[in-house]
Amino acid sequence: MKYDYLVVGAGLFGAVFAHEMAVKGKKVLVIDKRDNVAGNIYTENKMGINVHQYGAHIFHTSDKEVWDYINEFADFNNYINSPVAVYKDELYNLPFNMNTFSKMWNIKTPDEAKAIIQKQADEEIDRIKREKGTDEFEASNLEEQALSLAGRDIYEKLVKGYTEKQWGRDCKELPAFIIKRLPMRFIYDNNYFNDRYQGIPIGGYTAVIEKLLLIERNDSLPFVSGSITVKTGVDYYDFIKMEGNVPAQPFESVNGDSFEKILFTGMIDEFFGYKIGTLEYRSLRFETEELPDVDNYQGNAVVNYTEREVPYTRIIEHKHFEYGQGKGTIITREYPANWKHGDEPYYPMNDQKNNDLYSKYVELAKEYPDILFGGRLGQYKYYNMDQVIRAALDMVKEISE
Ligand code: FAD
Repeated sequence: MKYDYLVVGAGLFGAVFAHEMAVKGKKVLVIDKRDNVAGNIYTENKMGINVHQYGAHIFHTSDKEVWDYINEFADFNNYINSPVAVYKDELYNLPFNMNTFSKMWNIKTPDEAKAIIQKQADEEIDRIKREKGTDEFEASNLEEQALSLAGRDIYEKLVKGYTEKQWGRDCKELPAFIIKRLPMRFIYDNNYFNDRYQGIPIGGYTAVIEKLLLIERNDSLPFVSGSITVKTGVDYYDFIKMEGNVPAQPFESVNGDSFEKILFTGMIDEFFGYKIGTLEYRSLRFETEELPDVDNYQGNAVVNYTEREVPYTRIIEHKHFEYGQGKGTIITREYPANWKHGDEPYYPMNDQKNNDLYSKYVELAKEYPDILFGGRLGQYKYYNMDQVIRAALDMVKEISE
């Protein structure tokens, strides 16, 4: 078979790209090494509940074009993310807002909250300056930075343990720049995101990807003149004919399919055989439990555990994303993990060292104009879903001009 594009990765980036190319009349083959489409936004229906297999995914954006676009493929509910935090036997609303402050200090007004935070932050700044013997305050680690922004109570109860679990390191050993600011709201508002649009696709994310990939036809969509073939359980490195570390040209698969161009949404360093070094990631481990006899485990979709001693960072109760009322429930505990080769690379570590290495791969990629790199792994960026859609639409526009 002759295809215009080989798209490697049936995640959100690959799916939007493939769809838009098919709209332009192109013939596209999409492969994914996983046995399912949708990448990290994959949801699987179990016990009538759409389980977010790779962590809680809430769609939120202020980009109207992206919102309108994704609404062609999904009906969104009006879910608003309002996580709560558990610290020992205390429970607080997130993000930090008047509900949090009122519970913490038994106060009512924004002025009272601001005064307490200011007083605690000033005490910490004075203490740190005294201990260092300096007049100017400069945070030398994340702990000092957080204390100077929020004071002792918020830091100890809601920031310290959670951050240490996330990064696998003591806050005193983490750089200050990780926390540039600690967003606080002095209104009673538990909506985690500030974006204009927010929700969860009714029926789960996998169905959205299936529509984009034309696996599930949606008659309300405009006519698509091209075509998309999807093959799962196919690893690119077993599929494409190679010459050294890169695909042989013209691009051909081991079974004789040929391709004009390639869009690659896997890891860019792996693509080049780690030729100039390995990019670093943080990983996660998920532990999912089906509880057929429990109807409502925690009363909220997302509960964060902020103390260091609890090994997981949060528990997700999936049914609450879609206001599920049925019998039984499913929960997932999320454990941050170090990443090593072979683990799932969830979060790019966008520090200076890794970003510099990524720039070198970008330079290398310029030698292969018929190979495009997209998405979270191909562009080594912590993209939210809306940013992935924006980036894929922009890429299609750019190469079509
Ligand atoms: P992926 O979904 O990773 O797709 C890449 C695909 O390429 C994968 O399916 C992979 O199997 C395939 N692939 C890789 N290598 C090969 C190969 N060699 N051969 C064949 N196939 C290959 N965003 C939000 O907007 N809201 C949220 O609430 C949110 N929560 C998140 C929670 C977690 C825990 C994580 C990790 C991310 C979250 N995100 C969230 C971000 C969101 O998951 C990403 O923006 C999105 O999934 C990225 O899509 P992608 O196509 O770039 O990557």
